[in-house]
Order: sequence, then structure tokens, then C-alpha cells
Amino acid sequence: MQNQMLAEDIEEVLITPEQIKQKVKELGEQISRDYKDKDLILVGILRGAFIFLADLVREMSIPVKTDFIAISSYGSSSTTSGVVRILKDLDDDIEGRHVLIVEDILDTGLTLNYLVKNLSSRHPASLEICSFVTKEGKQKVPIDLKYCGFRIPNIFVVGYGLDYAQEYRNLPFIGTLKRSIYEDEGHYRLT
Ligand code: 5GP
Repeated sequence: MQNQMLAEDIEEVLITPEQIKQKVKELGEQISRDYKDKDLILVGILRGAFIFLADLVREMSIPVKTDFIAISSYGSSSTTSGVVRILKDLDDDIEGRHVLIVEDILDTGLTLNYLVKNLSSRHPASLEICSFVTKEGKQKVPIDLKYCGFRIPNIFVVGYGLDYAQEYRNLPFIGTLKRSIYEDEGHYRLT
């Protein structure tokens, strides 16, 4: 019922639950092959990546540990300032371990650029990135993605962990919002 009400705010579904399930399965299998016999830790970026990470680990067939890092995000706006602040750091030490950052969406790349620099300084054995969605042509800094689920055009999307003003994360698909949802908010821009 709740999901149905949220779904009414959606303009267009870009990635369906079936497409998501299939892609997560493929990524889980690929990561399991690539990291077989390695001490792998998945680092989920809160809050957006929690749903993708939860689905991903259940499609993996190798032992895997998880940790989370929380960073400052958009609030209800849709542009990245480039200023990144760690709100909650990792609980575990990553020195000498194989780290795979799990991100919901790659937009400008500023967040990941900061995180890669920060986590590299802790001397992991390897550091790679898996982003579920990547926006075409939006990156301001080059980001080397080892795994990418979907490429989408440069539009603001919600669902499958992605929020607008902290809502819509629980939608089982990724889609765009109807204009009426955000048009009253002066700070919102379709970038
Ligand atoms: P970047 O630093 O790459 O510009 O931004 C990454 C973060 O911005 C993502 O983790 C996500 O929280 C947020 N973000 C970027 N694009 C979108 C979008 O289209 N929808 C939502 N809900 N969040 C986005």
C-alpha cells in the first residue's frame, strides 16, 4: 500500500525490479569469481547503497565481510557540492585487505574521488569500486569503476536506495519523479 502510494509520484520507471534482480545476480557472480580466495570486504556508502549491498551479498558465493561508511549527502537538493564529510567511519581496519566500495550511483564522481583518496591512505591490498548506476557524461573527475550495473542519462532518479528528501528509497525500481513533487522546492535543479 505504502509502495503503491509512493509509486504514484513516479514519472517513468527506468530500471525495473526484474532488470535489477538480473543485474545484481550477474554482479554477485562476477565479484565472487574475481575475489575467490581473497580477504574481501565490501564497503557500502550510506545511506543510498544499503539496499544494493544487501542484495549483492546474497548473490555472492564466497566469504565476504561488510562495513559501512556514512558521508554527507545532498539533503533534498540534487546537486553535489564536492564537499564531503565523513559522518560515520568504517568500524574495521582495512590495511592489507581487498576493499570493494559499493555505491548506489556515480554522478559527478566527487564523492568517490574523495573516498578513494581517503581509503587508499589506509593501505588496503586493493581498492576497487562497484557502482550500481552511472550517469552518462556527468563525471567531473575520472573514476575507474571495476563494476557498473547500469548507465543512465543525466537525470535525477529515485528508488532502490536512492532518495528524494529521504523518501522513495524503498521503491523496488529506479525511476524519475513527477515534476509536481519537487517544483515547489526552489533548491531543486535537474542537472
Ligand atoms: P557524486 O559525488 O558522484 O556527484 O554524487 C554521488 C551521490 O550523490 C550519490 O551517492 C547519491 O547519494 C547522490 N546522487 C547523485 N545523483 C543522484 C540521483 O540521480 N538521485 C539521487 N537520489 N541521488 C543522487
